[in-house]
Amino acid sequence: MWSFNTEPEFQKELDWIKHFVETEVEPLDVILGSQWNIHDPGFIKIVRPLQAKVKERGLWACHLGPELGGKGYGQLKLALMNEQFGRSRFGPIVFGSQAPDTGNSEILAHYGTPEQKKKYLEPLLENEIVSCFAITEPQGGADPLVQETTAHKDGDEWVINGEKWFASNACFASFIIIMAITDPDADPYRRRSMFILPAETPGIEIIRNYGFYGEGNPPTHGHLRLSDVRVPAENMLGEPGEAFIVAQVRLGGGRMHHAMRALAEASKCFDMTCERVLSRFTKGEVLAKKQMVQEKIADCWVQLRQFRLLILETAWLADQGHDWKAIRKNVAAVKSIMPKVLHDLSSTALHLHGSLGLSTQMPFTDTLINSYHVGLADGPTEVHKVTVAREVLKEYQPCDTMFPDYTLYAREERAYELYGEHLGDDDKSHPNRSQQ
Ligand SMILES: Cc1cc2nc3c(=O)[nH]c(=O)nc-3n(C[C@H](O)[C@H](O)[C@H](O)COP(=O)(O)OP(=O)(O)OC[C@H]3O[C@@H](n4cnc5c(N)ncnc54)[C@H](O)[C@@H]3O)c2cc1C
Repeated sequence: MWSFNTEPEFQKELDWIKHFVETEVEPLDVILGSQWNIHDPGFIKIVRPLQAKVKERGLWACHLGPELGGKGYGQLKLALMNEQFGRSRFGPIVFGSQAPDTGNSEILAHYGTPEQKKKYLEPLLENEIVSCFAITEPQGGADPLVQETTAHKDGDEWVINGEKWFASNACFASFIIIMAITDPDADPYRRRSMFILPAETPGIEIIRNYGFYGEGNPPTHGHLRLSDVRVPAENMLGEPGEAFIVAQVRLGGGRMHHAMRALAEASKCFDMTCERVLSRFTKGEVLAKKQMVQEKIADCWVQLRQFRLLILETAWLADQGHDWKAIRKNVAAVKSIMPKVLHDLSSTALHLHGSLGLSTQMPFTDTLINSYHVGLADGPTEVHKVTVAREVLKEYQPCDTMFPDYTLYAREERAYELYGEHLGDDDKSHPNRSQQ
């Protein structure tokens, strides 16, 4: 059953994607602005024809099941594809697989009414529109229970009030998916419901857009104010109080794809580092001959391979029929280690390139900052580590005696009970026995 081989037919597709991304998509990174700005003339002229090539090849929006026009590729194949998309910030959108639209399309596919699917899902899948997922609020993101946005029913409408924070791409989005309190007296995890807000609804205001270093212009993470925003009752996604259940639909696969894209970014740093240390001379020899440099190369390579294996194993588990909840420990582990891998690989690349590495000619400072981005967005690292630890510890039991039964004397006791007679010696005096 175990195999690290890729089916030859699928390998052909991966080879095509790799070549296409390297030769036609990566150049966009240095000439176009935000990849979600689908109305930008450059996007229309250059990105649209590339998307057409992907559609022609049958590789468009592969995250979707066959019922939505996708190929129904499993998570393992999607992971391998995202490893290639991640080499360029335009990779995902050229292949119709960009966050947060992928996750939002999964929510709409599960919970949308037929009209909502027609109005939002279909154009979203075609990338005729883009979307936003606004959960975080200014008073805190790591703890969703501090969210204060409310929605109350008024006749056939919901009236929404509150603020949302760091809502990526709100400025380009045709609709925003938000979470709001609908039953303040319910259990904390059953208080909130999910809604679609069409972007043009009166009462939605972008107070300010925030950017971060290395991301490029314009700033696209919106601080939103929602003042008496009225939406029809059917704009609630899922049942009242089920916001957290609805949110889960989008997180598992998305985190895995994100991890493979981060792996791609880290691998690019590594490739550049290897080339550089083989090229740069100091004290009569190339950097690659210095043992301290060799140690860095070895550590980075091992770190990349460990991370890749962890992601692929988790994707494989998902493909074996385990639902995301059952493998939440594995997904959280992937999410929690991703920032460290990106951080370590980009800072090593920066350092080994010397002054050139620190300069704006190199991508390493951007990647380094991006490692902080991936450690915060979609839940901070600490929260995912807590999940890993909590899930791991569920597999163990506390010991009910003062000293654990794995002390040497206890192990010897059991071993002598089992095999003592074969040793032909009285237990306490046997020469191999410890002094305890
Ligand atoms: C680039 C970017 C894009 C984003 N896009 C979106 C988006 O589209 N939609 C959206 O809803 N949100 C988005 N976010 C918000 C993101 O989800 C939050 O930043 C994140 O949840 C952390 O919340 P916070 O920023 O309020 O930090 P805080 O919750 O204030 O956390 C502050 C610090 O405390 C640490 N911390 C938090 N909890 C614990 C804990 N239990 N134990 C120990 N330390 C802890 C954090 O790691 C952090 O270092 C985005 C964020 C970034 C950076």
